Amino acid sequence: MTVFELEKELFFQTYRRLGVHIKYGDGVFLYDYEGRKYLDMLSGIGVNALGYGNEKIKSAIIEQVNRYIHLSNLFFHESQVNLAKLLIQFSGYKKVFFTNSGAEAIETAIKLTRKWGKRFGKNIIVGFSNSFHGRTIGALSLMDRDKYRNGYEPFLPGISVLRYNDIDQLEENINHSVAGVFLEFIQGEGGIIPADKKFVEKIFELREKFGFLVVADEIQSGLWRTGKFFAFEHYGVKPDVVAVAKPLGGGLPLGAVLGNERVADVFSIGTHGSTFGGNPVACSAGCEVIKELSKIVEKINSVGNYLKEKLEGMKLRHPIIKEVRGVGLMIGVELSIECSEIVRELLNKGVIANCTRNNVVRLLPPLIISESEVDFFIEKFDEVLNEIKQQKFKVQI
Ligand SMILES: *Cc1c(COP(=O)(O)O)cnc(C)c1O
Repeated sequence: MTVFELEKELFFQTYRRLGVHIKYGDGVFLYDYEGRKYLDMLSGIGVNALGYGNEKIKSAIIEQVNRYIHLSNLFFHESQVNLAKLLIQFSGYKKVFFTNSGAEAIETAIKLTRKWGKRFGKNIIVGFSNSFHGRTIGALSLMDRDKYRNGYEPFLPGISVLRYNDIDQLEENINHSVAGVFLEFIQGEGGIIPADKKFVEKIFELREKFGFLVVADEIQSGLWRTGKFFAFEHYGVKPDVVAVAKPLGGGLPLGAVLGNERVADVFSIGTHGSTFGGNPVACSAGCEVIKELSKIVEKINSVGNYLKEKLEGMKLRHPIIKEVRGVGLMIGVELSIECSEIVRELLNKGVIANCTRNNVVRLLPPLIISESEVDFFIEKFDEVLNEIKQQKFKVQI
């Protein structure tokens, strides 16, 4: 049996997998068993910010593995402390809690918000439409899309999901009972949709008035993905709590919640925890991720601008492109047609991209991508859209 057949037989069928079998990765490229090479414009869904085979990450992992892989959080770990120091240095937050995933970071933030709110009689948490915060019941409770939620009811009580970018609804629904507002400043799974500047301003104005916490979900957008350490820096605001994950562990499972002084003492000994959270091997890799990315911030911004300009140029040639959104290397190309076939055709041409929200080609390349690699992507994307154009006379799409 092939690996494809075995997967079908053995697994709960939750994932739609690509029909390629990867042997190894190197830099921004993946190589399959048939010797084909793919430019990775998705980075393992925003994880592999330093691409594949980064020497610093590999040596940090090996060094830690040679000492110990796991001790539990009954012990101190230099690797955890080192990573916490780096995160606090670059973010200005006060406290860190390490998790194993994004959804767990969101769960931690929900618990933190609930416990904090208790002190002030604030018992409502607000989420927004079209967002994605992960697959746990807590995370799903903050969301509204049926695709993720159907069949999993009942969800957590005390949560209201308001319309994203709707200022009127914010004003009508936010009051003294709100403990926290959870927000992706740039929605990722939702189709690379940035929050409106005015909407963000209103949230922070209401925070002044009612004193709730603002919790930023930076799991996809954080750690320089958008050219800044956090996407919210593009808005000149400072949330109280931030969740990060995807790229944090250099490919190993690792997430974190950061909090400011307002929430610094909410958790006390024994009130929250995780057996694996902050695994020392993952934290060792994480230190390299932060250190290496901090050296290439300017380049991330220039390559990001370059990619966006090229896509804007393509938009002029291809009316099928409705909009190019996003910032840095978190880019969405909204098409006027469904994009799953386009992504499949890109794969045939040696490019891995992703289709989200049915018609948005999502690009989250490794942050080390170069302009010539961007050119390769643009060339292939252009080819695919030209093919669609030609076929359009024969096949109705
Ligand atoms: C991926 C993602 C999550 C969930 O992270 P997992 O590690 O898959 O649990 C949460 N929020 C956002 C914005 C994400 O992109």
